[in-house]
Amino acid sequence: MADPYDIAIVGAGPAGGNAALTAANAGLRVVLLDEQPAAGGQVWRGKAASILSAPMTPETKAGDALRHAIHASEVTHLTDTRVWDIRRDGENWALQILGKDAPEQITAKALILATGAREYVQPVKGWTTPGVIGLAGATALFKQTLSLPGKKTVVSGTGPLVFFVASEIRRLGGTVAAIVTPNTRTEWARSLPAMAVQPKLLARGGIWMADLMLAQVPILWGHAVAEVSGDEHVTSVQTRNLSKGTDGPTFDADSLCLGNGLVPQIEAAQMLGVPIHHDPALGGWVPEAQPDGATPTDGLYLCGDGCGIRGALAAGVQGTLTGARVARDLGKSAAAPPVSKWRRAARFGRAMTALSIPKPDVESLTTDDTILCRCESLKRADIRAEISSGAASTNAVKSGRRAGMGPCGGKYCQSAIAALIAKETSRPIAEIPPPTPRPPLRPVPLGEAAGDFNYDDLPIPKPAPL
Ligand SMILES: Cc1cc2nc3c(=O)[nH]c(=O)nc-3n(C[C@H](O)[C@H](O)[C@H](O)COP(=O)(O)OP(=O)(O)OC[C@H]3O[C@@H](n4cnc5c(N)ncnc54)[C@H](O)[C@@H]3O)c2cc1C
Repeated sequence: MADPYDIAIVGAGPAGGNAALTAANAGLRVVLLDEQPAAGGQVWRGKAASILSAPMTPETKAGDALRHAIHASEVTHLTDTRVWDIRRDGENWALQILGKDAPEQITAKALILATGAREYVQPVKGWTTPGVIGLAGATALFKQTLSLPGKKTVVSGTGPLVFFVASEIRRLGGTVAAIVTPNTRTEWARSLPAMAVQPKLLARGGIWMADLMLAQVPILWGHAVAEVSGDEHVTSVQTRNLSKGTDGPTFDADSLCLGNGLVPQIEAAQMLGVPIHHDPALGGWVPEAQPDGATPTDGLYLCGDGCGIRGALAAGVQGTLTGARVARDLGKSAAAPPVSKWRRAARFGRAMTALSIPKPDVESLTTDDTILCRCESLKRADIRAEISSGAASTNAVKSGRRAGMGPCGGKYCQSAIAALIAKETSRPIAEIPPPTPRPPLRPVPLGEAAGDFNYDDLPIPKPAPL
C-alpha cells in the first residue's frame, strides 16, 4: 500500500486551495481532492475548455491565480474526484475516492475538510417545474459555460447574489423580467457599515445596481415568489408582498432563478463526530472549529464555508490559517496571517449571510401540495402526516417516508423538513438537528462502492438513533 500523505484536503475552493498551498510550502506532502474539473470551488469556478477565450471577470482572475499557484506547487491535485467515505484507520484517515480511474483508498495523517456550502431553496408551489434553477446554481452556468437559464428570467432570492445573477444575465444578453427579494431596503441600509470594510466589493455591487436601474428592471423589495406556473416549462411567476400578506404582481417568464441563502455542508464533519450547534447567523447547523481550523477531534481540521457561511474572502484566509496550523501540528514551521485578518473578512461575509437568511414569512409560502422532497416526490402534506403520527425528528421522518434517501441524500429537503418539524411540534429549530449522516457522501455506483469483498468481512453498522 502507498505511503500515507501528510494531509488530505477535501475541497479545492478558496479555503481548501489556500490550505493546500500553505501546507505544501511548509514541506508537507499534500493531496487535494475535488469533484470539479478545476480548482476554485463554487465562487472561483473554472471556465469550460470551450469558453476559455471569454472575457475575464474578477472571479475568473482570482480562480486562475489559485489554479496557477496549485499547478506550480508540489500539491497533488486530484480533479473530478468524489470523496464518498472517510474513516479512521489506526493513526491515519482513510478516504474512499472515485475519480477518473478505478475507485481507490488513499490515506493521510491529517485531514482538512473544506467542503463549502450548498444552496437552500425554499419550496413553493411549482418550484420543480423545468426552467426553475437555484440562484447560486445559476452562477455556475455563467462561470463555467456562459449559458443562460432562459430568454426571460425572474430572479428571486435573498442577499447580494440576487443582484449579481440579474446583472450577469443582462451581461450575457438575457432579459430579466423582475428581481424579487424578501429583503427590504432598510435591511440593506443596516448592513452597509459592515460592507464598507470591503470597499471594492461594495463598489461592484453599486455597478450592478446602476446597470439594473438604468435598464429599468423592476425590483420588488419585501416580496417573494409564491407560485410558479407552467406544465412542461415555466410560463409565469406569481409574487407575494410579505409585509402585507397580499398577492404581488405576476410576471411572464420562461425561467426562474430561486434561492434563499447558503447552508454549510457539514455531513463529513458530522459523520466523523465533530459536535454541531445551530447558529442562524452562520447559515444553520455548524460544526465546532477554531479560527485556525482545529476541531475537538485529533488530526481533523475544518475551514471555509463548511464551518459557517462567511464568504469567499474569509474562506481563503481561514484556509491559510488552517494549512499553517496543520503544518505546525505535524512539526513544520509555517507563516500565517493574524486571526484579525480573518475576523475582518468574516465581518463582511456575515453581513451578507445576515441578509441571506430565509425568513419565516417566506417559509409560510410552502403549501400542503408543495413538493418538499423532490427525489421521493413527497409533498408537505405527506411529511405533516408523518409528523402527526409521532415522527419528531429528521431521522424519524427519513425512516418513515424515505425523505432524504434519494440521490441528493437529503441535501435539498432536510432544511425545509426540519423547519416543518419545528413548526408542527412547536419546538425551536435548534432542537431539530439534521439526520445522522451515512456514506456515501456523494452518489457512487453500487458496484464501485462494493468492490471485491467477502460477506463475512462486512461490518454490521449500528442502527441510527431515532
Ligand atoms: C452554487 C454556489 C454558487 C456560489 N456562487 C458565488 C458567487 O458567485 N459569488 C460569491 O461571492 N459567492 C458564491 N457562493 C458562495 C461561495 O461559494 C463561498 O463563499 C466560497 O466559495 C467558500 O469557499 P470554500 O472554499 O469554503 O468552499 P467552496 O468554494 O464551495 O469549495 C468547496 C469545494 O469542495 C468540493 N467538495 C465538497 N464535498 C466534496 C466531496 N465529498 N468530494 C469531492 N469534492 C467535494 C466542492 O465541489 C467544492 O469545489 C456560491 C455558493 C454556492 C453553493
